[in-house]
Formats: sequence, C-alpha cells, structure tokens
Amino acid sequence: MSIVSARHNQPLPTPAGGEPFLLTPGPLTTALSTKQAMLVDWGSWDGDFRAMTAELRRALLAIAGGGDAYDCVPLQGSGTYCVEAMLGSLIPRDGKALVLANGAYGVRIAKTLGYLGRAHTVLDKGDYLPPRGAEVAGILAADAAITHVVAVHCETSSGILNPIGEIAAATAAAGRKLLIDSMSAFGAVELNLGKIACEAIVSSANKCIEGVPGFGFVIARKEALTASAGRSHSLSLDLHDQWQVMNKTGQWRFTPPTHAVAAFLHALKLHAEEGGQEGRLARYTRNRDVMVEGMRGLGFETLLVDAWLSPIIVTFFTPADPAFEFTRFYELMKQHGFIIYPGKLTVADSFRVGCIGQVDEHAMRRVVEAAAQALAAMGVASGVPAAAALAERRHLAA
Ligand SMILES: *Cc1c(COP(=O)(O)O)cnc(C)c1O
Repeated sequence: MSIVSARHNQPLPTPAGGEPFLLTPGPLTTALSTKQAMLVDWGSWDGDFRAMTAELRRALLAIAGGGDAYDCVPLQGSGTYCVEAMLGSLIPRDGKALVLANGAYGVRIAKTLGYLGRAHTVLDKGDYLPPRGAEVAGILAADAAITHVVAVHCETSSGILNPIGEIAAATAAAGRKLLIDSMSAFGAVELNLGKIACEAIVSSANKCIEGVPGFGFVIARKEALTASAGRSHSLSLDLHDQWQVMNKTGQWRFTPPTHAVAAFLHALKLHAEEGGQEGRLARYTRNRDVMVEGMRGLGFETLLVDAWLSPIIVTFFTPADPAFEFTRFYELMKQHGFIIYPGKLTVADSFRVGCIGQVDEHAMRRVVEAAAQALAAMGVASGVPAAAALAERRHLAA
C-alpha cells in the first residue's frame, strides 16, 4: 500500500490531558479536533443541522460505493441497535435467515433474531474459523426457505476478517439476499457495494471512521427499504419510518445525537484527507504489522495465522508462564498509557489489542515497549503461549 497522506508522515499526537490510548475497537481514540467539533449546541430542527445530516448521508453513500441504488439511514443508539433495526426491517416476518457466526457478534445476531421471532439457522464456526463460500452454498442448496444470509465482516471478538467476497458470491448465486454487519470494518476494509451483491450493510460512528459513540447507520438498497414498510416490530428501530421521515423532513424522527453527528462530520473530513478507505487501511495495516512483529519478538503469539488477521484488532494467547496475570498486565499497560482489551474467546485464554483509532506505528512501537516492561515487572520471562494453545491454531492453517 503506497498511499501516505501528508498528516501521516508525522507521528499522531498522544491524547490530550494524559488520557490513555484506547486500543479497543470502539469507542476508540479520536482526534482532538473531532472532540472539539462538539463544542456547539445545534437545534435538531434547524436548517444547519438538517444540512449536516444530509452531508453525513451523502458522504457515507460515497464511501460505500453503491451509487443511486442505495440509501443511507442513520439511527440513534449503539451499533447493536442498528443491527436490530436492519434485521427487523429488512427480513420479512415470514423470511428465514442463515447466520454465519464465528464469535460473539454473530452469536448476538442469532440472539436478536430470536427476540424478533424470525426463523433462522446458524452456521457456527466456533471462535476463530471463517465461514467459507462453499459451506454457505451447501446450506442454501439444502434449505429453500432461507431468504437472507447474515454475515459479520470483521468478527471483532477474535479479529478475524471473514471472506465476504466468496460469501457474497455464494449468496447471490443461490438467489438469496446478503446483510453484512460491517461494524468494525466499514471505512477501512474494502467493501464496495458496486462490486459485491449485497442488500444492506450496517456500521456505527465509533469504529473505523473514528467518530464518537451515539449512532449507527444502515446503507441499504432503496428497493429493500421500500419493501420494508410496516414490517418492524419496533417504532424506534423502524428503518423504513426513519428513512421516510428523514427523506421528507431532513430530520431524525426523535432527538438526534447532535454533538456526535458534528464530531462524525469532522471525522469524515479527516478520513477523506487521509486518503479515504485506502489511506486508513494503510495506517491500520501498518499499526498491526508493527505491533504483531514486536509482540512476536517478545514471544507472544496470535490466535490467528497471518492469512486471517484483520488490520482492526488482534487476539494474542495469554503467555504460559504462571507469573502472568491478565489484570496485572492490563494495569501495567494502562500505567504506560495504553488501554487494551480482555479476550472474548471460549477456547483459550487471550487478550486483544486494537489497531484502529487515532493511533499510528510510533504509538504501536511504544505499545510493544510497554508490554516488554509489563512482562519484566511481573517476572514473566517471555510471552510464549502454552503448546496446547498453539496446537489449536493449526486447524486454521488449512
Ligand atoms: C462494535 C460492534 C457491534 C456493535 O456493538 P455496540 O456495542 O452495540 O456498538 C456489532 N458488530 C460488530 C462486529 C462490532 O464490532
């Protein structure tokens, strides 16, 4: 990747006021100027704020690349609210979903469908194996009732980057519709609605666009939005109603997160200045590569083999040394200015380090130094995991 922005040549600043870096996949570390963009109170009915909403929708559609066939519907709440709105609005009550799960977010999608009373079946790949196109094709061929496939783009619980291209191809070949939770990937990982067959994607403000939490957005085929009238189980999560009212009045139906929208518009500007999705991917990829190489130098190993490592978040096995204690490690890393994430796996003890947000390779080198010092402080000789944990990983090599 050769795209380097002007801003990119200088180290990004450390968060103001001695705050730690959030190496967590949202909320994440935002630019000081993004935070400063919130220092105005906007009236939700006012023309200025309506123009901001219109600009936000236009910019997101441009990033998604689907052209006129799609529209963008922002919605209040965290990402999960928007996933639920997408599922409850776009899957007909008599439809059936195939959920491709390989971690907590896929499992949450299935749980949501249970609440919504939508028929569904789950391809559960466990903690870290990718759902493959051929498997999807097989399940769809065997079950004519399935109308929609729901996939997670980057499964943030392990950091695996799922093969969306082959999943989309298999879904389209079987004449079914694809919904993608691209929460932690959109804006950094390529996802062009002009190139893959997809009914809708969902993401939120506080992931790769690097805004603050408060809302998410669904980018869906206009045809699908039109067909969703009267389908939602919920007034506040009714995507069709939100879309219609927004198109008619320029307003959000209920109190919008005005400050979060202002911050997001500024974050979109920074995203464009960095070279859009490609520029952001280049920085995040560099963050990951520098951090993973450094951590491996300390003996740590990644849960995933390189082919499935995302540039979003990386899961490391807990070191085998009995002197290692995660809560102590967490505190020591925090003292050095870095907030990391506990693991979210059922099979193995692990922890996670995010690569997204206003962080660059310079900070990532300091993350590795901090980890080295934390190990030394605990009297842990190296980050090498148990042999059994590494044996697990071999499943993935195929
Ligand atoms: C962050 C995230 C969500 C939404 O989580 P919220 O806590 O509701 O914002 C959904 N799916 C994935 C893959 C995510 O990374």
